Amino acid sequence: MIVIDQCVLCGAQYQVEIRASQFKRWQDGEYIQGAMPDMDVYDREFLNSQICPRCFRELESDAEDWVQSEASDEHPLSPEPSTPLPRGGRPSSEGERKS
Ligand SMILES: [Zn+2]
Repeated sequence: MIVIDQCVLCGAQYQVEIRASQFKRWQDGEYIQGAMPDMDVYDREFLNSQICPRCFRELESDAEDWVQSEASDEHPLSPEPSTPLPRGGRPSSEGERKS
């Protein structure tokens, strides 16, 4: 069967082809991942939230940008790159003592 619906974000019509038996399982309350394991993830997302693949990818990339900028602010990937040695040249073994 084919499900045709409109994207809630951009209003574009999008259609998803799906086995009726799978659709019924989902309608009966099964998780969409469980009812349609072999289905395209974007198609599933459209059935689930009525967001078309194009909009969904945009949301995804927005989220990635957000996560990345958050991460680089608070948790850099390489922890403490080239920490300057304290005066005297001793390696900083007392990491917890910060002044
Ligand atoms: Zn859309």
